[in-house]
Amino acid sequence: MGSRKVTSSEPLDWQGKHVTVAGLGVSGIPAAKVLHARGANVTVVNDGDDARAREQAAELEALGITVRLGDGATLPEGTELVVTAPGWKPDKPLFTAAREAGLEIWGDVELAWRLRGPDAAPWLAITGTNGKTTTTQMLASILKAAGLRTAAVGNIGVSLLDAVLGDEQYDVLAVELSSYQLHWAPSLRAHSAAVLNLAPDHLDWHGSMEAYAADKGRVYEGNRVACVYNVADKATEDLVREADVEEGCRAVGFTLGTPGPSQLGVVEGILVDRAFVEDRHKNAQELGEISDVNPPAPHNIANALAAAALARAFGVPARAVRDGLRDFTPDAHRIAHVADVDAVAYVDDSKATNTHAAEASLAAYESIVWIAGGLAKGATFDELVAKSAKRLRGVVLIGQDRALIREALARHAPEVPVVDLDRTDTGAMLAAVQEASRLAVAGDTVLLAPACASMDMFANYNKRGDAFAEAVRELGS
Ligand code: ADP
Repeated sequence: MGSRKVTSSEPLDWQGKHVTVAGLGVSGIPAAKVLHARGANVTVVNDGDDARAREQAAELEALGITVRLGDGATLPEGTELVVTAPGWKPDKPLFTAAREAGLEIWGDVELAWRLRGPDAAPWLAITGTNGKTTTTQMLASILKAAGLRTAAVGNIGVSLLDAVLGDEQYDVLAVELSSYQLHWAPSLRAHSAAVLNLAPDHLDWHGSMEAYAADKGRVYEGNRVACVYNVADKATEDLVREADVEEGCRAVGFTLGTPGPSQLGVVEGILVDRAFVEDRHKNAQELGEISDVNPPAPHNIANALAAAALARAFGVPARAVRDGLRDFTPDAHRIAHVADVDAVAYVDDSKATNTHAAEASLAAYESIVWIAGGLAKGATFDELVAKSAKRLRGVVLIGQDRALIREALARHAPEVPVVDLDRTDTGAMLAAVQEASRLAVAGDTVLLAPACASMDMFANYNKRGDAFAEAVRELGS
C-alpha cells in the first residue's frame, strides 16, 4: 500500500458546459436532468430508438435537453465531458473519440461523487464478484443499529444521485459498487472499502481477468481508514497491496478461521475482532455469534465479517454489530428456505447466477439434490462440480446450456444420478422440483443454485425463484 495526499473533488462550474450523457435509462435520465438543472448544455445519446426511448426522449426534450436516438456511437460536436451509463462497454467508438479528444468520462458513481456537497456523508464501499448486495445491506443494518443515519445505496435501494443530492441527511452511506461502476469512477475516495472475493465474471466487458480485477481494486484507492480484504482470496489482498491509500490506512482481513492481528474471524462459533481493538496483538473483541447471521451459511458469515469490519472501521461499537446482524433479513432468492416437505428442505438460491456463487451455496449443505442450468455465459463447470461432487445426492438439469453441466458431472461425479429435463416451457420448474423430490431422502436439501443466468426460461432470476417456490408449494399441498 502506498500513501497519497487527499484529493478533494473540485466543484465544477456547469453553466453552459457541453455534457454528453451516454444512454437513456436508470442512470442516464436522472444524470441528464441534474446537469441540465445546474445549467449544463446536455445532449443525451442512445443506441436504441424504440417507443419507450421516444417517450423518454420527449420528456427530456420538454425540459430543453437535446436527445439523439439511434446513434450512441458518434461523439456530439463540442462535447466537454461524457457521463455514461455504467454498463456501456469501454471500447465503444464514442469513448474512443472522447479519449482522443482528451475528455473525461464519468459513470453514475463518479457523477454522484463529484456532485456531493462539502459536508457529504463518507462512503463505506463494497464490491466483489458475489455477496455485494447482502453485505451492503448487512452493513446498513449495523450502522442503523449504532444509531447512525444511513442507507444502502448504489446498485440497490436508493440511487447514489438521490442519496447525495436529496433532502435526507446521512452520517454515512453503505455503497454497493459493481466493477462497471468502478471502471468509470476515477476520483472516488471511500472512507473504507471491501473487496469480498474475485472470480471470473463479466470478462467480455472488461476484456481480461486482470482488467476486471484492476477495476475492482479501484475501490481501495484513496481509502482513509481501512482496506478490507478476504484472507481466503489472495487476489483481494494483492489489490490492497497495489492500492494508493491515505497515510495511516490499514489492511484488515476477514476469515472464517481464527483471526490473526488486524483481522476479523471466527473462534468457536464467536465472531471476533482483532483489528479494531486496543493492542491487537494481545486483545480481541467479541462481536456476536454465528447464529446472529442470517442465514449462517459459511459464505454469508464471511459477508457478515466484511460488513462488521467496515462498520468497526467507522467506529461502530461491538454491540451494534450484533444487533444489526440480528435485525438483517436477506433479500428474496438468496439462500431462502422455502419449505420442508417430507423432511427435505427446499432452498431457493436463484440469485446464484454464476459458478462462484453456486459453489458457495453448495458448500453450505451436506447432502444436496441440486437443480442447476440455464445460460452459462461462457462459464465452465468442472471446478464447481469437482468441488461439490461429494455433497450431491442427485442433480436435475434445466435450461439451454445444461449439457455443459452434464458433461462436467460425467467427468467428475459419474456416480451421481442426473435427470436431464429437456424442456423450457413454463411447467418445467414444477417438473424439476418433482424430479428432485424423487431423488431426495429425509434430511437432504433440494437446492436451486443454477450457476447460470435465467433468461433462457424466465424473465429474470426473481421469476425463476418464484417458479421454484410455487412448485415446492404445489408439491407440499
Ligand atoms: P451480488 O450483489 O454480488 O450479486 P448478492 O448478495 O446478491 O451478491 O448474492 C448473490 C449470490 O451470490 C447469492 O445468492 C449467493 O449464492 C452468492 N453469494 C453471496 N455471498 C457470497 C460470497 N461471499 N461468496 C460467494 N458467493 C456468495
